[in-house]
Amino acid sequence: ANTRLRRPDWLKIKLGVNNNFSDVRHLINRQKLHTVCESARCPNIGECWSRRTATFMILGNVCTRSCRFCNITVGKPTEYDLQEPRRVAEAVKELDLRHAVITSVARDDLSDGGAFIFAETVRLIHELHPRCSVEVLIPDFKGDLNDLDTVLDARPQILNHNLETVERLQREVRVQARYDRSLSILKHAKKRDFVTKSGIMVGLGETWDEIIQLFKDLRAIQCDILTIGQYLPPTKQHYPLDRYYTPQEFEELRRIAIELGFKHVESGPLVRSSYHADEQAPLLND
Ligand code: SF4
Ligand code: SF4
Repeated sequence: ANTRLRRPDWLKIKLGVNNNFSDVRHLINRQKLHTVCESARCPNIGECWSRRTATFMILGNVCTRSCRFCNITVGKPTEYDLQEPRRVAEAVKELDLRHAVITSVARDDLSDGGAFIFAETVRLIHELHPRCSVEVLIPDFKGDLNDLDTVLDARPQILNHNLETVERLQREVRVQARYDRSLSILKHAKKRDFVTKSGIMVGLGETWDEIIQLFKDLRAIQCDILTIGQYLPPTKQHYPLDRYYTPQEFEELRRIAIELGFKHVESGPLVRSSYHADEQAPLLND
């Protein structure tokens, strides 16, 4: 067996669950909402839900794209529910969330990529539960900056868009996406003075230098927040794992990223895009 690929101890998860956790689960089921926390079987679910942070997936759970690391069903989406923003906002209020992350599949079938539903969701959360900060983790809207503006006009606290991997591996891993197009999304949001955030997975076969180059590319457009986590293939059919990074390597990446000027960096084997997101949001007044 390849010892490099045996799952190391630091990836074994302890579920820290308190009462908040079951509150969140009940309500999400009742409101028929999708969370990434559940559908991606995120290892941090106990911790995040207990901290009253959750990631909602709007616009259905069928994606028009086929990124090779992702476990979401690919196909022709049918869901377009104008009541969904209200249901999400009501859930956020009822759960008294401190930080809500709103994300979606890529809806290349819609003329606005789903931007309107994103914006409505943000607006309604602000209206119904003003002390909750809202982070949007958006698709690239095929690079359409008008769609991005639609979302930004709703004033999310954080604009997050993941590069996922280094430039060389984009085509292989994020089949329909492009590195420069993703950078242009983050650049435009920063031009409008939003807090911007991006994230990558490591372990897909990238080199150390390619990772550092990605950090520099993000800093060149003043990206504020960075997340770095270990890639774990959802199944054997997904993009193969190249290797596990050690906790020391994650720490070294964090140190370099901070040195390059990121304001906040989460780096570790179990870090996901929305991990500890509540700590990164600007503080809101009650
Ligand atoms: Fe949910 Fe994100 Fe936390 Fe995972 S890291 S449990 S997806 S909020
Ligand atoms: Fe998964 Fe997002 Fe890629 Fe769709 S666009 S396959 S949801 S990572």
